[in-house]
Formats: sequence, C-alpha cells, structure tokens
Amino acid sequence: MFNDLIGSKPSRRWGLMALITTLSLGLVLWLGGVTWQAPDAFAQDPEATEISTPANAAVYRFTLGDFKAMVINDGTLTFPVSFFVPNADPAAASAALENHFLATDNLSAYVNALYLETDDHRVLVDTGAGNTFGPTVGYLVQNLEAAGISADSIDTILLTHAHADHIGGLLNDAGELAFKNAEYYISEPEWDFWQAPTVTMPNSLLDQETQATLVGVAKERLTAIADRTTRFALGAEIVPGITAVPSVGHTPGQVSYLITSGEDSLLATGDVFFSDPLNLEHPNWEVVFDTDPKQGIETRKQLLEAIADSRRLVMVPHMPFPGLGHVGSQGEAYGWEPILWEFMYGN
Ligand SMILES: [Zn+2]
Repeated sequence: MFNDLIGSKPSRRWGLMALITTLSLGLVLWLGGVTWQAPDAFAQDPEATEISTPANAAVYRFTLGDFKAMVINDGTLTFPVSFFVPNADPAAASAALENHFLATDNLSAYVNALYLETDDHRVLVDTGAGNTFGPTVGYLVQNLEAAGISADSIDTILLTHAHADHIGGLLNDAGELAFKNAEYYISEPEWDFWQAPTVTMPNSLLDQETQATLVGVAKERLTAIADRTTRFALGAEIVPGITAVPSVGHTPGQVSYLITSGEDSLLATGDVFFSDPLNLEHPNWEVVFDTDPKQGIETRKQLLEAIADSRRLVMVPHMPFPGLGHVGSQGEAYGWEPILWEFMYGN
C-alpha cells in the first residue's frame, strides 16, 4: 500500500555505514583506550521551572522544487528509555543505544514542525506542544517569528494526529487560536476518535492518567478549531502538491504528508519512528505512545520499507533537529542517514 502511495525506486544498503561505524569505534578504542560518555545535555532538569529565549538556531531552511521549506524546532522532550520501549529487553535496548554513543537511561525526542511556502499557501505541518508539556517545549511560534514568518500569515495547518505535542500549539497561553487566520485539516478517523463521547485505548501501554491527559488536550484543541477544520479521507490530496498518506497505529487516524513540487518530494511523517537505535534497528519493539502498538509496528515496517525502497527524503517530527534524512535498509533492520545542519548565507 505504501509503495503505491509514495512510489518506489532502487534500494540503498547501509552496510558500508555499519562497517565504517565499526572501524571508527575500533579506531577510537585503539587510539585512546578510553571510553567517552555523551553529555546528557538534553535531559530535562527537574529543578527547571522556566527556560528563557532558546540560545541556538532553531530553524533549518531548504527548498523542495518550487516550494520554500523550513523545519522549526519547538524544543525537546526527554523520557526514560524503559518507559519509551517498555517491552524491549533492557540489555538489548542499552546495547542499541551504546552502539550509537547515546545515554542508556533517558532518550530525548526533539519536537520539530515543518513550514512550507507553496504556490498558494503558507502551510504548517503540526504546531508543537504549546503549553501542554512543560518548559522544554513550546517555542515554535517564537522560532517561526524569529525566522521572519508571523503566526498570523499561516493560512493552512495540516495535522498528522491529535497528540498534545503536535496540536498543543494550536492555542496560545491565553487560550486563543495561535494561528488565527488559518484553515485546519485533519483526517476524519482521527477527528472521530478523539471527539467521541468516550475515548478508549484498550491496547495502549500508557497509564490511565496519561491517556486521560492526552484525551483532554485533544478534545480542547480540536473543539477550538472545529468550525474552521476540514476533515479528509485517508489518502486524499489536501492542497495542490500535498497528499495524506495513512500511517495509523500510533493513533487511529494518523497520516503522513507526501509533498511534491517539480522533481522533488518529501514525506513528512507522523509519529512512525522516534529513534534510529530503538525503532529503526528494532522496528518490532512496541512503542509506549502508540494507541495500538501492534498496529504501530506493522505501519512502521511497511512505511520504513517504502521509504527505503523509494530513497525518498523524509522529515520526522521527533528525530534530532532538523529531523530530515533518508532511511536505508539491511535485512529486517533500518538505519538513519541524517541531513546535517549547515551554515547558510543571507536569505
Ligand atoms: Zn509526537
């Protein structure tokens, strides 16, 4: 299904990358005989109650055919690894992270959103967490405006799904619409799921309190945009050049967006994977945030295969900023090839 929707091109292998990684590791150990521990720079400080202006660059500009594009960071969220993949063997999870020189206790999820200037629209894909997830996130509007894009100039908001870290930013701290001139788009099954009188997640691995919080935020935010929202069928073209690709499992109506302009295309995924060591190398591990973890695994594997086969550029909300990259495959596992941040001159 996914190959039909996002196309297919020859596969790329990443065995060479693994070989280079292995050789590099050996070289490091040979050179120094010392172990190097990645700084735990992204762990949330439990004492932190307020974070002032972000002190580093938080936008990444690129072009996609005739479209201007930009990834905007909203902040980061940090979770214990054991919470994130609760059914994975802890030793295997630690090994996967250690192989990438990552901390084994906590895992940071970036919160990235995508801005597009198409021929006719100023589009935002997802809105960040707003004020729903504490002081380490909620900087999307600030960073967007620092890049010269006012929130009022956004006319189209596409939602991948209705979790708080994607729709929290629909409202500002005063409870008003943060993007007051926008039209909103969300899939019909996603809307229906969260707006049902009683929302149940019988397969979810999340505790009841967290489930209730997610439901509360979704109902509040979706109700606030109700009269300006178009609900679309999975697979529909939303605006010219942007098509919704079903990506269900994380939530019942989640979509990714396939964006095409000229010869270029980009798949802006919903929450299909979060971490290359955990979810790409081990796509069969259940993820705590998936409403239906088993369906989430099936979608993850199908979408990863389609992305790898098509060699298509992807933008992933929770991968390290800017969250742009490619996916390679080797057997049952996948690997992440990030687009690296680069210095840019002028506009
Ligand atoms: Zn998310």
